[in-house]
Amino acid sequence: MLKRVAALLFDFGGSQELRRARYKAMARQIPLMNFLIVSNILTLAYTHFGFVPKFLSVGFPAAVCLFLGYRTIFILRTNVDALDDTAIVQRLKTVVILSFGVTAAMAIWSYALFQYGFPFTQMHVVLFLCLTSIGAINCIMHIRQSSILISTVIVGSTIAFLVSSDVLVFNMIAVNMMVVTTAMLFTNFGYARDFANLVERGRVLREQSKRLKELNAENMRLANADSLTELPNRRRFFTELNALVEERATTDVPFAIGILDLDGFKPVNDVFGHTAGDELLAETADRLRALLPPDIILARLGGDEFGIIVPGFEADKAVSELGDEMCAALRVPFNVREGNARVSATIGFAVFPDAGQTAEMLFERADYALCFAKQHNKGSVVMFSEEHERSIREVSTIIHGLREADLEDELYVMFQPIIDITTGATISFEALGRWDSPTLGSIAPNIFIRSAEQEGIISKVTSILFAKALKAAAEWPEHIRLSFNLSVYDLCSMVSVQRLVSQISKSGIAFSRVTFEITETAIMQDFERANEALTMLRAMGIKIALDDFGTGFSSLSYVRRLPVDRLKIDRSFIAEIEESKAARDVLRTMVVLCKNLDLDCVVEGVETQSQLDIIKDTGGRLVQGYLYSKPVNRRDAKAFLELHRSEETAGAA
Ligand code: C2E
Ligand code: CA
Ligand code: CA
Repeated sequence: MLKRVAALLFDFGGSQELRRARYKAMARQIPLMNFLIVSNILTLAYTHFGFVPKFLSVGFPAAVCLFLGYRTIFILRTNVDALDDTAIVQRLKTVVILSFGVTAAMAIWSYALFQYGFPFTQMHVVLFLCLTSIGAINCIMHIRQSSILISTVIVGSTIAFLVSSDVLVFNMIAVNMMVVTTAMLFTNFGYARDFANLVERGRVLREQSKRLKELNAENMRLANADSLTELPNRRRFFTELNALVEERATTDVPFAIGILDLDGFKPVNDVFGHTAGDELLAETADRLRALLPPDIILARLGGDEFGIIVPGFEADKAVSELGDEMCAALRVPFNVREGNARVSATIGFAVFPDAGQTAEMLFERADYALCFAKQHNKGSVVMFSEEHERSIREVSTIIHGLREADLEDELYVMFQPIIDITTGATISFEALGRWDSPTLGSIAPNIFIRSAEQEGIISKVTSILFAKALKAAAEWPEHIRLSFNLSVYDLCSMVSVQRLVSQISKSGIAFSRVTFEITETAIMQDFERANEALTMLRAMGIKIALDDFGTGFSSLSYVRRLPVDRLKIDRSFIAEIEESKAARDVLRTMVVLCKNLDLDCVVEGVETQSQLDIIKDTGGRLVQGYLYSKPVNRRDAKAFLELHRSEETAGAA
């Protein structure tokens, strides 16, 4: 029975948080409660001083007051947050025990005093019990057990008074007390229940918000990470970059950003399959992570492209050495499931604030440096420099000039003959575009053509140049053909292709006299569409030449699938032909290939007699180059034809 009572008394159910909250709420009330009890004890002792024994009027009150004072200080000095749940339960038990002990002591003390007094002082005793208990119950309402104990003790002592006193007033006051304490217990229980609910709801809410925060963090992680390599992704890269730009905006402390691009990754994907490609990318990330100091941010921007942020920039040299180390680490062959794969890496760096003051600008500059490296020295590191800045500025002046230009007036074509070396006869002229700007001077075609493409005015440029070329060709003998260079944008839409066709129709020149030259890199940009357009042009009798052959990616077998009639072997092969046997072998192979595929083959860029001799030796037939003629104007082209005709006739004679 005792055990069961103890279990009931010391069961502080609910959650840990609820117990803690109860203890805290109670601890806050304790000083007030003890003050109330002490002052009530002192006044009661005072009214009884002199006619009750000293231990009742001084000894007992002093002991209780000292004890309560000590408890108050003890509780005030406790840091509840530092207590664990077992400590709190222990404290609660102590509170329950003490509330019983103190109330019982006071009840006994009151009873003792009551015996000595006369009606007024007895009245004070009853009032003391009444007020003290009501005050205490109120203060300690968060600990239900204590409230019950206090009430029980008080009710018990009231019964004792009932029994010991025959004064009706006291009996009635006792009844009042019983009613009031019972009512108070009920309201306090109600209040305690609300309190518990509130705490519980708060706990659930906090838990939910914690879970929500965790979920959010996980979402953020997923949204900002690349799943294959577990590196930060493009979005995160730009977040970091923007933050750094903002941070450094006021101080101008430099930092570098880099873009790393793998060379030869696509063939790995094609040959070994996508799984191997993925493995290679993951391994790339691992190697770079192992190499880079922790303050450097490495991200996967997509595909085989990685971004690097170097917050602590010291000198160009240090960054480019770091880049070299990265390139070296990636040159080591990769063990993929199907075998050994080799790639290399090219990196472009740009440094804040010299290369750019915004994230976009910096990224563009790094990308420019990367493209520059890819064109000039694959597998190397390039820092964006003032020289690059200048050439970018040039391009933008050209774009601006092109927009302002009177194109009809300023564009014209030059002609370079293509010669059949077996007969020495000119078989055709290649038209080469020229732009003489009154403000910028004469601009090379590969530059203004690219700008016109960027500006979206290439179709206008093409049609002006083509019209002028056709006009010149109309003056030539029937058997002299015209070659004209096209940009990939000229093949982009059926409308532009049709415009070319109708220009030929209008000129009165036979379709079969026209050859369009297009580079393989241009075709590769949009193979499907280019293929479709070229097939259509060919069906009308127009010839197609694959220009700059050998500089791009297309393998020999690939050429077979393209709708072309002629290959033009790039100048770069001929430049080395005298010194390099390999170049001679390549040339010979290409010539043989063309024969096998029944394609015409034009060797470009022939400058010397000895080059010509070698070409003759490899079996080449058609050539073009400064040896015969530089590009000349329309009048000189006509003159060239006449001169050669007379040479031919002279030769024949
Ligand atoms: P391409 O089609 O390969 O043209 C041959 C280029 O090599 C021409 O340069 C020509 O002047 C130059 N060349 C010819 N023989 C020799 C030689 O023996 N030695 C050297 N060093 N160079 C030689 P150009 O006229 O500066 O044209 C450059 C490129 O611009 C052309 O390369 C072509 O791709 C493009 N292009 C020229 N005109 C047009 C055009 O009207 N439209 C389009 N879309 N592109 C054009
Ligand atoms: Ca050409
Ligand atoms: Ca060419």
